[in-house]
Amino acid sequence: MATLYKSTRSEGTKVTASEAILKGLADDGGLFVPESIPQLDKSLEELSKLGYKETAYEIMKLFFSDFTEEELKYCINGAYDEKFDTDVIAPLVEKDGAYYLELFHGKTIAFKDMALSILPYLMTTSAKKNGVKNEIVILTATSGDTGKAALAGFADVEGTSIIVFYPKNGVSPIQEKQMLTQKGANTKVVGIIGNFDDAQTGVKMMFNSKELAAEMDAKGYQFSSANSINIGRLIPQVVYYVYAYGQLVKEGKIQVGDKIQVVVPTGNFGNILAAYYAKNMGLPIETLYCASNENKVLFDFFETGKYDRKRDFILTTSPSMDILISSNLERLIYLIAGEDAAKTKELMDALVNEGEYTITDDMKAKLSDFVGGYATEDETHDRIKEIYDKTGYIMDTHTAVASAVYAKCAADKDIPTVIASTASPYKFTRSVMNSIDKKYDSMGDFELVDELNKLSGVKVPNAIEEIRSADILHDIVCDKSEMEKTVRDILGI
Ligand SMILES: *Cc1c(COP(=O)(O)O)cnc(C)c1O
Repeated sequence: MATLYKSTRSEGTKVTASEAILKGLADDGGLFVPESIPQLDKSLEELSKLGYKETAYEIMKLFFSDFTEEELKYCINGAYDEKFDTDVIAPLVEKDGAYYLELFHGKTIAFKDMALSILPYLMTTSAKKNGVKNEIVILTATSGDTGKAALAGFADVEGTSIIVFYPKNGVSPIQEKQMLTQKGANTKVVGIIGNFDDAQTGVKMMFNSKELAAEMDAKGYQFSSANSINIGRLIPQVVYYVYAYGQLVKEGKIQVGDKIQVVVPTGNFGNILAAYYAKNMGLPIETLYCASNENKVLFDFFETGKYDRKRDFILTTSPSMDILISSNLERLIYLIAGEDAAKTKELMDALVNEGEYTITDDMKAKLSDFVGGYATEDETHDRIKEIYDKTGYIMDTHTAVASAVYAKCAADKDIPTVIASTASPYKFTRSVMNSIDKKYDSMGDFELVDELNKLSGVKVPNAIEEIRSADILHDIVCDKSEMEKTVRDILGI
């Protein structure tokens, strides 16, 4: 059965998966969602016997139904190969009673690689299928991890170029160095004077500008997005929840059909939405815990039904979650509004114009699968130390937010729990090492890498070795108000 995509903001025409991937955002500014979420067409028993690539095929064929089997397998095989440092792709590690789903074994050591290693394949295949002649310009806002993963994925991919905007003072030193050392003639990295929400808003405005689109087209360019607003980002993330369940079955930790719960460190709401899609496909997930850091706009939303971004933006040690406008929440809002596009548009417009919206009681009642939780900076750092002291396992700050929320809200439920582990501790070395002992604060960034290696016994990833001595290749910085001008300068329009 074909899965078509529609916008969350109007009852307009429906598009195929490949068209939705190419466009990124719908013409009315809404997000593309499947007409209905497909059901798993293999039993959990059968799925539990599959490897990562086979699982990926079983999930993606249901969502990307206009891709042929050959096209989809070409994309999957190209993505999930030796770029990952383990054949398992997403290992499940049991520590202190919970299962950490390690999603950071790809090229840039954050979970963004799970989807961004396949997106360039999906994008170029979609371009071919639809006879696109323009060069596709990927515009991306990053809170630190998407940027590098997208740059690595699209570098030197024919027919594409990529421009990444990041908050100049809002990412970790390693994250910044990873981006600024990116090679590839088609890559550009721009630091903005502003925060992640400013970057994301600026990018969305460019996507929505009909005038800019026309000028681009005249020069042989068109935009697409590598942010999780693109369904080509979102759907590959559904795969690892199904795969994690299968691994629990395979290892005899659960029986087929048993319920699990998931805890997801959340920023833009893409990762946890993928888990919700998996649940709606038939995966037995009891509760989804949405873990926030001190920017706890989502926690407050789940508590009260009011989404209120009018608050101070806090820079934390889990910068990839420093977000006050969680774009993918719009897809959930649309579902709980009974797929009412007019209602969704009304709420999203209120968020832009008034900085807040409140959902109806009916909608709130449909959120019962979710529990919001948050961890303060102290709780996050204490959790890193606690698990290290107990088990020797060292987790990154984002994973630690989820792990702290697990300890506070979910550990007493006696249901096997998968915690999404979204980054390698090597990406946030200083914050991680300081959590274990303050004495590390006086050391340099790469000295800390070696100390982390000594403490954890985990090999230093290539992603880190690579940037120790790499040259800085990008130096553009602009004000948040100058993003469009910068894009015009880069493209010569
Ligand atoms: C992007 C990111 C998150 C947040 O994921 P969302 O899908 O945006 O909610 C959490 N942790 C890390 C390390 C990330 O890079």
